[in-house]
Amino acid sequence: MICLFLSACATNAEETASETKEEAKEEANQEEHQKEEEQQEQEKESEQEQKEKQTDENDKQSSEDEKQEAEELYEVNANDSSLQALKDGVDEQKVLITIDDAPDTYSVEMAEYLAEADVPAIFFVNGHFLKDDEGKENLKKIHDMGFEIGNHTMTHSDVTELSKEELENEILGLNELVKDIIGEEPTFFRAPFGMNSEESKALLEEQDMVWMNWTYGYDWESEYQNAEALADIMVQTELLRSGANLLMHDREWTNQALPDIIEGFREKEYGFINPDNIKQ
Ligand SMILES: [Zn+2]
Repeated sequence: MICLFLSACATNAEETASETKEEAKEEANQEEHQKEEEQQEQEKESEQEQKEKQTDENDKQSSEDEKQEAEELYEVNANDSSLQALKDGVDEQKVLITIDDAPDTYSVEMAEYLAEADVPAIFFVNGHFLKDDEGKENLKKIHDMGFEIGNHTMTHSDVTELSKEELENEILGLNELVKDIIGEEPTFFRAPFGMNSEESKALLEEQDMVWMNWTYGYDWESEYQNAEALADIMVQTELLRSGANLLMHDREWTNQALPDIIEGFREKEYGFINPDNIKQ
């Protein structure tokens, strides 16, 4: 609307200029004309900006669509929690990186490293890390970097010990809390200690959530609670194979070992599974 109005003004100014013969007036009109032209110029620029903005928004929209429509290439094997290729040609060597007990102290730093290294991952979060502003901010940062956020229960409790009401608070309560912070609920669930019950499995199924344990991890064992030993075993273990579901935690030594672990996998020509490609 502003555009049209200014164009109309410009036309009027031209008409006025042609009707006027006196020099002084003409000069004044020329000045005015120049101003009009400048305005039109600015207008064009802002139109251009608008168009660019629109294009950016379209891009954003289409990348969101892409995420929703990400191809299902893997599914979680319910027996051993490995990732199984659903189609021929996708079973090239790849592993899934998961970080549990997030976002405690090191998760943001770990996410920053992984983002920089272009490695996708799932961060399984607990509600007790999301109660204060700092925890919420950290969750947002991790999510904004593009990582999948999984549910690891509200208080890291053993779900096999819970009443129905407690179970709902631990799983559904955390889903709501996460949604309040990042705008979407987790799809993946990992039970603390890898222990699900028939009740927890039924609840997860009812919620269209996918649970997974892991195929291997070492950072909770005392002999691997240093970066060097951990980086070595994570890559050299005989358990390493395509589709391995790797468990790591928000811990100091794991944070320190992470770059060597990722580089170690790359040296062995392993890639990384994008959680967007896991069947939900
Ligand atoms: Zn845990």
